[in-house]
Amino acid sequence: MSNKLGINTTCVHVGEVKDEQFKGAVSPMYLSTSYAFDGVEVKRYPRYYNTPNQEMLCKKIAALENTEAGLIFSSGMAAISSAMLAFLERGDHVIVQQVIYGGTYNFIVSEFDKYGIEYSFTESDKAEDFKALIKENTRILYIETPSNPLLGITDMQAISNIAKENNILTMIDNTFASPINQNPANFGIDIVIHSATKYMGGHSDISAGAIAASEEHMEQIWKTAINFGGNLSDQTVWLLERSLKTLNLRVKEQTKNAQQMAEYLEQSSDIDSVYYPGLKSHPQHELAKKQMKGFGAMLSFELKEEIDAMTFQNNLSLIKPSMSLAGLESTTVSPTQTTHALLSEEERLERGIKDGLIRFSVGIEEPADLIADIEQAIEKSK
Ligand SMILES: *Cc1c(COP(=O)(O)O)cnc(C)c1O
Repeated sequence: MSNKLGINTTCVHVGEVKDEQFKGAVSPMYLSTSYAFDGVEVKRYPRYYNTPNQEMLCKKIAALENTEAGLIFSSGMAAISSAMLAFLERGDHVIVQQVIYGGTYNFIVSEFDKYGIEYSFTESDKAEDFKALIKENTRILYIETPSNPLLGITDMQAISNIAKENNILTMIDNTFASPINQNPANFGIDIVIHSATKYMGGHSDISAGAIAASEEHMEQIWKTAINFGGNLSDQTVWLLERSLKTLNLRVKEQTKNAQQMAEYLEQSSDIDSVYYPGLKSHPQHELAKKQMKGFGAMLSFELKEEIDAMTFQNNLSLIKPSMSLAGLESTTVSPTQTTHALLSEEERLERGIKDGLIRFSVGIEEPADLIADIEQAIEKSK
């Protein structure tokens, strides 16, 4: 049913918990951690991921990503770690895109050895790079697109084709695009993962994760997830449901603003380069057009060398320098100082990350105000 509904109707209504008792307009919040076990269809318990609020919100996640099933977690990393370890055994091999979220990178390099799981990082986001690394024991191709912080685009259909030919599972971190701008399942990607702390939550006030996949794959993820116990508390499940009602409204507006900001930054004489898949100058603009419904609200840009990135950010007044992203408020971060601080300068330059690079999460404020803020900060920083 849900697939036939429009996107805003899906955001508002799919997976509502009906208030049969009082007929209220919104989902009641069920906080019980203890449910009857006899004479019931489903044995419910928070860590089984099946309290009424969890079970129903999973339907909204699935509808948003056009998959059969959804599952909700306490963080993006709980979703990522549960998904990967659900399908991996000692001796298995995973191929991971070179440029991925720092927490995912850290999870792989600090945990996989303990389990005897092998991994290889690609040298780029090109599908041929993944293909070249496939071995007999390869179980998963893991991608992220658009990627952080340079907004590289990975060809989802090409990755999915290569994986299917070799009987390998595909996983994507779809956080940056959100389900509004990209539905990887439509390109054959098996497991779609979100840090719901970002666009799905959208107000910079909840930590959550989500997975969308087929019933069969989800069953396997669930069996591992109940052991790791990364379920989301029902208060936050309820807040996430409320947030998702405006997902399309928020992300559409942010995406529109990001396009305007990218175009403004591109013509500014104080900026060297702008990275945004919605710009014709983006090297994978055509690929982005093919697989994205909108180009997203994340971009990055390089300040001219004479402008110090930290001074510039401290001179901003509306836009907040901030570690996370995807809120209603615009934020910036300096990858060299934060997400990529642990890499050496050489490793950073290899990945194209210069000291003047600023990652920009565009909010819902009017672009004219954001532009004025950037211009005054640049003037002050010269
Ligand atoms: C934030 C983020 C994560 C991790 O999510 P948490 O909710 O912090 O655990 C994973 N991937 C991407 C792309 C992110 O931005």
